[in-house]
Amino acid sequence: MSRWMTLGLAILGAAGLASAQTVTTVVDNGDPSELYDIVILGDGYQASEQSQFDADVADIVAAFQTGINFPYNAYFGCYNVHSVFRASVESGADHPDADPVITRNTAYDASYNTGGTPRCLYLSTSAGRALASSDAALAPDSDGRVIVLVNDSRYGGCASTFAVSYNGGSMESVQAHEWGHSFGGLADEYDYGADGTYSGPEFAQPNVTNSSTGNKWAAWLGETGIQSVVGAYEGARYYATGVWRPETNCKMRSNGVHFCSICREHLIKRFHEEVNMIADPTPTGLVSLASGETQLLSFTNRIANRPNHTIEWRVDGGTWALGSDSFVANADVLGTGNHLIEVRVTDTSQAVRFVAPSLLQHNHTWSIEVGAVPGLAMSVGTGCPSTLPTTIYTFATPTIGASFVLGFFNMPTSATVAVFMLGTPTSAPLDVIGMEGCSLYTTGDVATISALFSPGATTGAGIIDLPNDGGLIGEVWTTQLAAIAIGTTTLGVITSNGIQMTIGN
Ligand SMILES: [Zn+2]
Repeated sequence: MSRWMTLGLAILGAAGLASAQTVTTVVDNGDPSELYDIVILGDGYQASEQSQFDADVADIVAAFQTGINFPYNAYFGCYNVHSVFRASVESGADHPDADPVITRNTAYDASYNTGGTPRCLYLSTSAGRALASSDAALAPDSDGRVIVLVNDSRYGGCASTFAVSYNGGSMESVQAHEWGHSFGGLADEYDYGADGTYSGPEFAQPNVTNSSTGNKWAAWLGETGIQSVVGAYEGARYYATGVWRPETNCKMRSNGVHFCSICREHLIKRFHEEVNMIADPTPTGLVSLASGETQLLSFTNRIANRPNHTIEWRVDGGTWALGSDSFVANADVLGTGNHLIEVRVTDTSQAVRFVAPSLLQHNHTWSIEVGAVPGLAMSVGTGCPSTLPTTIYTFATPTIGASFVLGFFNMPTSATVAVFMLGTPTSAPLDVIGMEGCSLYTTGDVATISALFSPGATTGAGIIDLPNDGGLIGEVWTTQLAAIAIGTTTLGVITSNGIQMTIGN
């Protein structure tokens, strides 16, 4: 009995711990579905060391915003950073290669000497890696490998599914390098770890090549790069010979230096692939304006802090003109009808030469509908096909608080009942319900009003009493006549043209 009790308590205890992780969005630049989301976990931090973890996370975020880590700083608006903290029982990591061996009980089982490489600090057990994965999934989103900071002063780091590093002085540059792998798809440019001369196929990564010509980055050859003239420097991707890199040095080769020209270019390209630089375009959907109205169109510019970019606007496919992150659509300037207003943001960075220009450009288009002048009514469409289609007309002005009088002619003599449907404009064929060639021009959801006519007559009238509601001014409604008339369509129902009215006062 007491054994079962104990087991029950243990399960409760585990459930209690599982809810103890702290999820924090450290950098919130917007909707995770639109941005690149980085998740940072901590291993070897006791509960009492949570503030140390938070400080380490803050250090990394701050480091990504400094010039040495260009382009991460320049494209800061393109990513979010989330942290998930789980307390470990003990501080630090395992040092299986130390004498005496150091063993620490930590959440994700981080250990040095992974694979026999002393500085390779990684999560050493599948249970630790599984727990890290499930904790990372608590963050609002994750778009690449997850960073794991290990609370240990011995230099080390390694990356596979997770980008693991110690939390000492070189932590930031280690993580900036690791992000080059996970986000940029960049290769290591250091030249140790593999024996002999590389003689295999060309590499998929953009910053290393098996050709001594350096033609892989032909657009850059001979240019002044970041560390040196861009050329082909032998020694990269773990081989001292047989592999070439673009510049003498690079963050993918040494910690604490800038990325080379080729790596920079590729990282910028990745930001443009990953993120739409035009965020939160406002308003969304079709913009309807009446005469005299204006509407501010705006968006959030994800590369607002880049000096070298342009914002341009154009109306109805006209000439692009430089502008800002907002534009006033003016109904009177646009004129009655449908219009398109487009914005485009172009990254004019000279750091990019190797990609299609369109990759560096982002567009958004607003559809603007400028309605008729309030108080105007006009006919839309036609009645069901006939030598004499049933037609409605008006001489009235649609005005709030007034009766809107309609007339009709060419009603089939077989018609028995007729109504005016009133609603918002639409356009839909009615063939599918047995009304061949007829069309619907109104949703009919505002009102249904009986027509005034005598069976057998071909003419009649209708009166729509428009409410005395100032909120209706500028609203566009359409009315249409429908009548039951045996012997006309298969369904025995016909419709007229529509009268579209823009309500005035
Ligand atoms: Zn590089």
